[in-house]
Amino acid sequence: MNHYRQATFELSAAKLSQLPADTGYEVAFAGRSNAGKSSVLNVITEQKALARTSKTPGRTQLINVFSLDDERRLIDLPGYGYAKVPEKVKEEWQKLLDSYLQTRECLRGIVLIMDIRHPLKPFDQMMLEWSYACKLPIHILLNKADKLKRGPAKSTLLVVQKELKDFENLVSVQLFSALDKTGKDECYQFLDNCLAL
Ligand code: GDP
Repeated sequence: MNHYRQATFELSAAKLSQLPADTGYEVAFAGRSNAGKSSVLNVITEQKALARTSKTPGRTQLINVFSLDDERRLIDLPGYGYAKVPEKVKEEWQKLLDSYLQTRECLRGIVLIMDIRHPLKPFDQMMLEWSYACKLPIHILLNKADKLKRGPAKSTLLVVQKELKDFENLVSVQLFSALDKTGKDECYQFLDNCLAL
């Protein structure tokens, strides 16, 4: 049975105090806007309504919490990158992200979604550095792999792996396509490990 299909929206939090009690296991999903975070969450959970929830106006800036069971959650982190967002708002998001990553005890891993055509942008580097500082495993999905032919996709994977070799075994990278639904099993392996499933 696919545990991830049980995901149900629990709440949106504007601050850490609004999150569920800090117990059990969480995996957080992050990515620049438009990298395909909502599409990936849909594919992982085999649900369409889930991502719609995260896209509800006003909720894109919040931490959205989806429960799998009493002690396991998927966390949808605000994915900024919209040019039109005022600097002040970006700073608020950054603070929220920062405090979540630094203080959340039950956080066991991060899935970082990138558009394979634009990997390792400053937002991604920031996420990598944060998680490295916290010694948190981070799994990168090079999403939209369907946009490239097999050869170029493979070589992007190798380039990104090489760039991240300093992070040692805390970082893993894979190809993914939310459109073709390819790469799911490899991603489930990471999630299962983090969530003790
Ligand atoms: P988010 O802003 O990160 O949540 O991104 P969305 O999930 O809304 O996706 C942004 C755009 O990229 C949408 O038009 C999606 O249809 C498209 N998209 C997402 N994943 C893929 C993928 O794997 N392949 C392709 N070709 N398009 C994708």
